[in-house]
This record gives sequence, C-alpha cells and structure tokens, in this order.
Amino acid sequence: MKIDAIEAVIVDVPTKRPIQMSITTVHQQSYVLVRVLADGLVGVGEGGSVGGPVWSAECAETIKIIVEQYLAPHLVGTDAFNISTALQTMGRAVTGNASAKSAVETALLDLKARALGVSISELLGGRLRSSIPIAWTLASGDTQRDIDSAVEMIERGRHNRFKVKLGFRSPRDDLAHMEALANSLGSKAFLRVDVNQAWDEHVASVYIPMLEALGVELIEQPVAREDTRALKRLSDANRVAIMADESLSTLASAFNLARDRSVDVFSLKLCNMGGVYATQKVAIVAEASGIASYGGTMLDSTIGTSVALQLYSTVPSLPFGCELLGPFVLADTLSQEPLEIIDYELQVPVGSGHGMTLDEDKVRKYARKS
Ligand SMILES: [Mg+2]
Repeated sequence: MKIDAIEAVIVDVPTKRPIQMSITTVHQQSYVLVRVLADGLVGVGEGGSVGGPVWSAECAETIKIIVEQYLAPHLVGTDAFNISTALQTMGRAVTGNASAKSAVETALLDLKARALGVSISELLGGRLRSSIPIAWTLASGDTQRDIDSAVEMIERGRHNRFKVKLGFRSPRDDLAHMEALANSLGSKAFLRVDVNQAWDEHVASVYIPMLEALGVELIEQPVAREDTRALKRLSDANRVAIMADESLSTLASAFNLARDRSVDVFSLKLCNMGGVYATQKVAIVAEASGIASYGGTMLDSTIGTSVALQLYSTVPSLPFGCELLGPFVLADTLSQEPLEIIDYELQVPVGSGHGMTLDEDKVRKYARKS
C-alpha cells in the first residue's frame, strides 16, 4: 500500500482558562493535524508544542512547513506500512523537528493499525493496563483558586494527583503556596511540582528538601535543561524523586541521563522525542537503568492524547501515572469521541488505530484561515 498524499492543517483551540508557567502563559493551543492517505484509508496524527516556540524549538507554523515541504515529498509513493523506513527517510531528510516527525509517524501508525483492525497498543505488543491515573495541573496563579479547584476535582473523582507549576513567583512565595496546598489537601492528594527550569542549583538545593518535607513526591525539571550535572547532584542529595522533562528529548540524551543516573524519572513526550517508536526506545532505556517513566503531555488534543495513551498503556514502570490533561483544558474537542476519566484514571481508548475520529466540523471551525 503506497502513500498517496500527506496533508497538514493548523488548528487553534482556545483553553478554558489561562495556564500560567514560568516561561509563558497559555491562552490557546495550536496543533498541526496530519492526515496520511493511502488506498482510500486515512491515518491521523498530531504535532504541537506548548505555547509556541518557547518550550521547545518548534511551533505549529514550523511543523506544518516541515511536514508539507520537507517530509511529505520524500514519503509520498513509498510503502505506507513500512514505518521503519519512513522514520529513516525522515531522519535523513530533516534534522531535529521531533514534533513534525511525530505527527507523520503517528498518522502512519494510525493508518496501519486501522488497516489491520487493531489498536496502536496492539501493534506495540499489547497493553498492560486499560486506564492510567491522571494528574491535574494547578496553574491559575492564585493559591485559593488552586485549592478550591483541587478540592472540587477530588470530590468529583476526577483527580487526586496535582502538579503545581512553580517558578513564576519567587521561591519563597512558591513555598508558601505549596504549604497552603499541602495543609488544605492533606492526605487526600498527591502533590508534584514542575519548576520548568526556573531555579539555579543553589535555589533548588535549598527548596527541594523543604518541598519534600511538605510531602511533595516528585520534582520536575528544577534547573536548566543543559545542567544535567546539577540534576544528578540534586537527585543524589534528595530522597524525593527528581524528573527530567526539558533535559530529555533524543535517545542520546536519555542514554546520558541514564548512564549517570542523573534523575529518578523520565517524562515521556511523543512530540518531544519524535513519535511513538522513539518514545518507546526512551522508555526502554529508562527501564534498563531503573528509572521510572511518566506519561508526559504537550497539552495534546484528544488525537495526540489517545496516541500517547496507546503507548503509555504498554510501558511496564509508570508509578506516577500520566498528566494527559490536554483535552480537559481545551474549551472544545476535535474528535467525535470523548476521553473519559473514571475514578481518577484516564481510560485508554478501545477500537482500531488510536481510537479517535476527527470531527471535521470542529477542524474546519478552528482551522487557521490565513
Ligand atoms: Mg514539564
């Protein structure tokens, strides 16, 4: 089966509320939806980056250009089922641009799985779990609002794991914020923090023990992405789990972090690592070195989230669950099927491919016009 065409469209979907991070505030998420057409079949993938080119080097505009002008011409006419060759071809044609490659690869995987009548997780060897605990991010910028929304989430059975974005306030104010959250929520909640590289090693070495004393169980990317030596020293000096996010992208970066045992947890992200197979390799490096995996997100829509669920459901060590909350922060959904949370756990979609069907009316509504 030959690839007939590859299409890419940018959609801009508003978020329900602003999401405040140390690096930017997100009011809408832009995605590139990629369709691969072959023999009357269609596979759909998604690329994106949180808040434009501020978290990673890519943004929706670059993803669309890379897919249309630099990847598609090499792939059209080739075997739609040979994803190994497609990955090699994309690797030779384009350096980096992991999210663009991920969008194409996931569309190919979706197409192949649908053609075979199986889910992507079945292509990957089969799922180990049918649902994954899902953390909610508290990032309103207001302590009382964060507490109120956490209490509401716990009562509704939606979330009892909360990731708090730190770094846009002073470390002292961040600590006071965490103290208030820990005191209000007590043992009803699990708290994690994401510093998004905002601290230097000294500040991190002072504040991480205080966060641990509050019961915080996971510290994500406390220092700059390049400063993996500092990550190692902080991991060695503290019992609380330290997680790499921005520091982790290529397989080589995963190997280097694993060789030095610089962190305790890897945050997996398909858009950051270049697709399902690249992310699976990173998870295997983690497994081989006793590092746990975590189901990260690039605030993906239902499409990207379902692909991630297909992979994360196959990863053996996932003790902190996932944070695939993208669909739930968006003001609208791009797929006909919703994703469901039952008893604090996100359900892995059933059905072939990634399990989602695009809602073409919504795609038209949010498609960028220019
Ligand atoms: Mg992060």
